[in-house]
Amino acid sequence: MTPSTTFAGQTVALFGLGGSGLATALSLKAGGARVIACDDNPARMEAAREQGIETGDLRQAEWNDVAALVLAPGVPLTHPAPHWTVERAKAAGVPVVGDIELFCRERAATGPDAPFVAITGTNGKSTTTALIAHVLSAAGRDVQMGGNIGTAILSLEPPSPDRVHVIELSSFQIDLTPSLAPTIGVLLNLTPDHLDRHGDMPHYAAIKERLVTGAAHAVVGIDDEWCRAIAARRAGPLTRVHVGEAGEGPGILARNGIVIDGRREPAEPVADLAGIGSLRGAHNWQNAAIAYAVATQLGVTSEAFAAALATFPGLPHRMEEVGRRGAVLFINDSKATNADSTEKALSAFQRIHWILGGKPKEGGIASLAPYFPRVAHAYLIGAATEDFAATLDGQVPFSRCGTLAAAVAEAAAAAEGDIAGEPVVLLSPACASYDQFRSFEDRGDQFRDLVRALPGLKPPGA
Ligand code: ADP
Repeated sequence: MTPSTTFAGQTVALFGLGGSGLATALSLKAGGARVIACDDNPARMEAAREQGIETGDLRQAEWNDVAALVLAPGVPLTHPAPHWTVERAKAAGVPVVGDIELFCRERAATGPDAPFVAITGTNGKSTTTALIAHVLSAAGRDVQMGGNIGTAILSLEPPSPDRVHVIELSSFQIDLTPSLAPTIGVLLNLTPDHLDRHGDMPHYAAIKERLVTGAAHAVVGIDDEWCRAIAARRAGPLTRVHVGEAGEGPGILARNGIVIDGRREPAEPVADLAGIGSLRGAHNWQNAAIAYAVATQLGVTSEAFAAALATFPGLPHRMEEVGRRGAVLFINDSKATNADSTEKALSAFQRIHWILGGKPKEGGIASLAPYFPRVAHAYLIGAATEDFAATLDGQVPFSRCGTLAAAVAEAAAAAEGDIAGEPVVLLSPACASYDQFRSFEDRGDQFRDLVRALPGLKPPGA
């Protein structure tokens, strides 16, 4: 744990005890602050009290005595309307911050030279965070990984000059971190997302840009117009990362699955993603090239980077290889809850037995039509069945399977008899999971269990 000592002797109000909230309360208490924690959910308040945290009704609090309001990232700061605790804090002139801000203040006070890599973007944050952490660990560094990817930042070991913190940040977390100043700030990409919580695209992009502006060194993916503009405005040290054909230059390139260091003269290929099962698909070229930029900035050699890539285990539910049976490959892409994400998976394979469906999203799967020729058969599950059947009709053979178990059984049997190319049974639902599952993780876990139970299945590497 990282005790948060910068509020020692002061009173801190905290709202939101799910996820990172309890860890934050414990860190503040360990650092000598008085914490008054609050949540709408009485069970969470009870759980906090069991851990020795003082809880209270912040409507009744004496706000003039409060040094800061710590807000959980899921609680609205600005849109659609500020939470009532934010209104109270503002009225009393109390700063509103998040747990990342507490970490940044702690680092500034106790270890300003401690390496701190902060990663954001609309897509690929978790993959890139995990990949950077993996490469640095493989190179023998002491790595602490957390933030939006999982472990709360204040549950990690404290910042120290010989330890690297690799932290994924959502826009909500950046919004609550006014003194964000990482050693390396990474911005992957920007496309419209979460606009209900950020108002409009310029506001969303401005929040993300703060991570770049505050960083000692910035690494920016310049494949979209928003990020290109942010890179152009960047005054300090910057590495540009570009995917595709055009755009030679002094940055890092990724082309046809090969990471090229364009800072060298002549530009030099440094890593090849071909055959790395955990980094399938063109979207991972950007993630790998960004990880290369960060790792080399921290002193990792290109040889060590290339060797570490090959052992990256990948993240569950994101084009995760579950195993093989004969010629058939089984892939769990349960994280793909919309057509855009599913497109990444469909584009990575040629002969697909596609399991899809769930709670449908606006727009459906019509945008995926260019990939329909790759689909040998579709296996429909959940509430989206009739919508998707209508889109596929006449273009792709399909079955109405109802449940995931029935879909896995039918797809496995059909793929086994499919002698055209290398068949893949792909769960990439293009839908939310809530009609039949607790979460996309639950859906992916069930898929993995069903596949592993197939007779003769060999897990990856076996
Ligand atoms: P995040 O943490 O930002 O949600 P993940 O690493 O969990 O991102 O990846 C989620 C999905 O986003 C992937 O399954 C893939 O469909 C897509 N994705 C991953 N990396 C990128 C990228 N660099 N550009 C565009 N889409 C990506």
